[in-house]
Amino acid sequence: MPKIAVLPGDGIGQEIIPEALKVLDAVLKNSGEQFQFQEYLIGGAAIDARGKALPEDTLAACKEADAVLLGAIGGPKWDTLPAQERPELGGLLALRKELELYANIRPIKMMPSLISSSALKEEIVRNVDMVVIRELTGGLYFGEKGRKEHPKAAYDVLVYTEEEIRRIVEFAFVLAGQRRKKLCSVDKANVLESSRFWREIVLDLAPQYPEVEVSQMYVDNAAMQLVRYPEQFDVIVTENMFGDILTDLASMLGGSIGMLASASMSGKKGLYEPAHGSAPDIAGQNKANPLATILSAAMMLKWTFGLNKEGQLIEDAVTKVLDQGYRTADLGGDPGRILGTRQMGDAVVDAL
Ligand code: ATP
Ligand code: MG
Repeated sequence: MPKIAVLPGDGIGQEIIPEALKVLDAVLKNSGEQFQFQEYLIGGAAIDARGKALPEDTLAACKEADAVLLGAIGGPKWDTLPAQERPELGGLLALRKELELYANIRPIKMMPSLISSSALKEEIVRNVDMVVIRELTGGLYFGEKGRKEHPKAAYDVLVYTEEEIRRIVEFAFVLAGQRRKKLCSVDKANVLESSRFWREIVLDLAPQYPEVEVSQMYVDNAAMQLVRYPEQFDVIVTENMFGDILTDLASMLGGSIGMLASASMSGKKGLYEPAHGSAPDIAGQNKANPLATILSAAMMLKWTFGLNKEGQLIEDAVTKVLDQGYRTADLGGDPGRILGTRQMGDAVVDAL
């Protein structure tokens, strides 16, 4: 039986994960698919109970599982710990590295009923429907870093192996082939040698995916195009740091942070989590928007288990609830239609 490791984590993670499980249960019951769900500790909750952010049994279970569903990690309570022991570095980043999750995926889509609550103009965000793929285990973040004396200096090395570039670019080509067949690779090849290497590999792989139209764009231009005319993009693929910056920028194109799902993949195996954090300011108040987590669970069904129909059912149910005018507090809207976390989960189950 396929295994899913469930890590609620901290803050609102404890409230949004039960809603996602409720929705998964409803959709899987109808389809007859069976999964084994098992909960484990991570982050601050694990520090409190077990003295470390990523206990051995959690790591072992995540390695063995087909997919990991995570809530959120961290909070003010653990901010005074040394960085390496904190929930974020010691828990989540350590887990991502251990599982070698090299592809971070964020689908960014404007739902028609949320256009009016967007901070951006309707004609810009109306047709946004893209996926940004960020390389997650290489580049500047993991290259050699250090300090020098005489004169004092500091450096971080941006290095990518051919293998690292190939696997992420291949992933992007495959995904683009399943969507609108447009791939934009983002780099800084007018300045960086690693970007020139990246470009060569994109061009080398392109003939294997003749149905996909490829373009290559400099990152500065990509940042501008994302806010000028975002509907031109279908799939974007880029290296670690450019992706870090562009995904935050692009996330604003899809409405609230409470709507954004994400997946970090290594082949079919994936860790699925909302793009937001543990929101300590609203934790424990039944106010958090569970939809990003519910949509992450839908991604899990599609991307790891190939259950496209079931994943789509969840996405359609979310759309339906929003079309009916129901909102959580972060989405604004008619005060009479504001639902709490649990009530929003129930509404999605009803819509299913
Ligand atoms: P992290 O470093 O873990 O990403 P963060 O400090 O960036 O965390 P978040 O925890 O994402 O911040 O919270 C940022 C703001 O967004 C907070 O005001 C929080 O209440 C709000 N927020 C985040 N997630 C949600 C959600 N699911 N529903 C409603 N509001 C949310
Ligand atoms: Mg954050």
